[in-house]
Amino acid sequence: MKIVRREAPLRSHLRAARRAGQRVVFVPTMGALHEGHLALVRRARRLGDVIVVSIFVNPLQFGPSEDFARYPRDLVHDAALLRNAGAHVLFAPEVAEIYPEPPLTSVDVAPLSARLCGAFRPGHFAGVCFVVLKLLHLVGPDVLVMGQKDAQQAVILARMIAELNVPTRLVVGPTVREPDGLALSSRNAYLSAADRGAAPRLYAALRVGAARVAAGETSPARTRQAVVRALREVPGFTLQYAEVVDRLTLQTPRRLDAPVLIALAGFFDSTRLIDNVVASPPRAARAGSASAGRRTRAAASPRRTV
Ligand code: AMP
Repeated sequence: MKIVRREAPLRSHLRAARRAGQRVVFVPTMGALHEGHLALVRRARRLGDVIVVSIFVNPLQFGPSEDFARYPRDLVHDAALLRNAGAHVLFAPEVAEIYPEPPLTSVDVAPLSARLCGAFRPGHFAGVCFVVLKLLHLVGPDVLVMGQKDAQQAVILARMIAELNVPTRLVVGPTVREPDGLALSSRNAYLSAADRGAAPRLYAALRVGAARVAAGETSPARTRQAVVRALREVPGFTLQYAEVVDRLTLQTPRRLDAPVLIALAGFFDSTRLIDNVVASPPRAARAGSASAGRRTRAAASPRRTV
């Protein structure tokens, strides 16, 4: 595996690969890698020939009171994991390589980035869009692989890619979880033992909502209430939001007659965790509205694997 820290050698290496007819697949990360990231790398290997992983803790997507400075960083360990998982290129730029100056350009998918996490993290998704678009220009991948764990991020980037004609296909891989259900996250390392014990109950609460939808509940409000009730019982957890939303518009639907995203965010102490599930109504309820929104969905929908 080649480790590259600058734009010029990255471009020339990938230009040569493309000239040789190889397909480039790209997995952007912030490092502190875990099995969730590595599953995306393995997925990437099935989608192309040259697997590029980036590790870049993007200052632009952290708010002033967030954990940019203390975000875990261990490039040597991460590089060993990536080598084992079969990545070919690790792009790990310094901040100055990506931002020689504070950028004046902004890239935002405003109505989507104001929802869910965006309502509590102003500027976060604009920072994500900026860095991902920049990385897409540097890497020029045929395929971009991202995780369903960050569902809102995937929806926003799918829309950005579609609207800006980026010649890259987005593939979204399923959320990898601990055996007890907790979604893997680099931030799980911050949890105290007691909070780590309680944290799987977030996923359990999401499944309460999904079970209701599967059983024929048609009200987003009642579904949300059931999830919120379950979350209120989780010791040490402060809920930021729990929402039942359309998978593309991220708006609350009037009725649950198509698959929806149930998403949450909240804190154990100062550690912010997010999670989500896709909940599907019983087949019969869906049939009548199957064509609703199909055209808009095709434009911005990533290839989903969940
Ligand atoms: P991050 O390093 O947190 O920016 O994440 C990099 C990529 O890994 C994003 O596309 C995330 O959605 C994805 N990812 C993070 N955690 C998981 C997980 N538990 N399962 C699947 N993908 C994940």
